[in-house]
Amino acid sequence: KAKLSGERYLFYQPSMNEKVADTFLLDNKLRRAVDRGEFVLHYQPKRDMTTGQVCGLEALIRWNSPEDGLVAPGKFIPMLEETGLILEVGAWAFGQAALERQRWQATGMPTPRIAVNVSAIQIRRADFVQSVVNAVQAVGASLEGIDLEVTESLLMEDVSGSIEKLEDLRNLGVNVAIDDFGTGYSSLYYLARLPVQFLKIDGSFIYTMTASGHSKMIVSTIISLAHALGMRVIAEGVETREQQQLLEAMHCDEMQGYLFSRPLPAEQLAPFLLQPGG
Ligand code: C2E
Ligand code: CA
Ligand code: CA
Ligand code: CA
Repeated sequence: KAKLSGERYLFYQPSMNEKVADTFLLDNKLRRAVDRGEFVLHYQPKRDMTTGQVCGLEALIRWNSPEDGLVAPGKFIPMLEETGLILEVGAWAFGQAALERQRWQATGMPTPRIAVNVSAIQIRRADFVQSVVNAVQAVGASLEGIDLEVTESLLMEDVSGSIEKLEDLRNLGVNVAIDDFGTGYSSLYYLARLPVQFLKIDGSFIYTMTASGHSKMIVSTIISLAHALGMRVIAEGVETREQQQLLEAMHCDEMQGYLFSRPLPAEQLAPFLLQPGG
């Protein structure tokens, strides 16, 4: 028995060390990335399903790593959250989106509103709203045209604190979308009380909608619920015409996904925004 556990110990130990070393390395690389400003925002257009026009953009962060190229947020956001670096990077994202939007505006480009994704760690802080205001001011931009997306479970965690912050943001002209809706545990009572203007249906329901009557029913129920609460609905992850047609029949307001456009770097967005009807 002792020998077995000894062998086990030897077996697991190296991989654990490796994992610690990997984590340590990534942690250091991310700190360096923050200092060197290696993050970029890509923008995915949202399409108004009634007019066909681009009606907004979602800012999605990427890490432009010198070693690994463009890294997707799923690979580094959790680590930024663990280390607290997300506070700095999250504030940067607001400043960067506001700045890029201001630059487009200066060139006469159409400038849809931009929604920035926010982590639990950011919004839980008492100074969250002020940190957003500061970040935007620090780059000489304004909050005009800036919105945010936050997951439902996060808002339900601290309802009264969330309501207060969302109302402050609302007064600053910032719209709020509940992200990944349907994957968390919203209380309908609180949902009705939250000062929120958009519900975003999670891509997992859209993906399975055409094959599963269950998903289709969930999507149409979310749309009715949102409309009853006076909110607009955005479907994310729309990849096929069939999904689009179903959503149109259900009176979904906006859609976003590879069918319409992938997330694009700012410089590739210009021609896209200038196209009438997207
Ligand atoms: P999310 O907010 O749910 O964003 C939607 C994800 O789906 C994005 O992945 C987007 O690129 C991807 N997507 C868009 N259209 C389609 C489609 O038609 N099909 C499929 N399969 N996927 C599609 P991405 O860019 O890798 O971002 C992943 C997650 O990382 C986001 O999920 C968001 O939670 C988080 N994230 C991104 N940027 C930020 C940020 O600046 N701050 C924070 N805190 N989180 C961010
Ligand atoms: Ca989002
Ligand atoms: Ca999602
Ligand atoms: Ca999300």
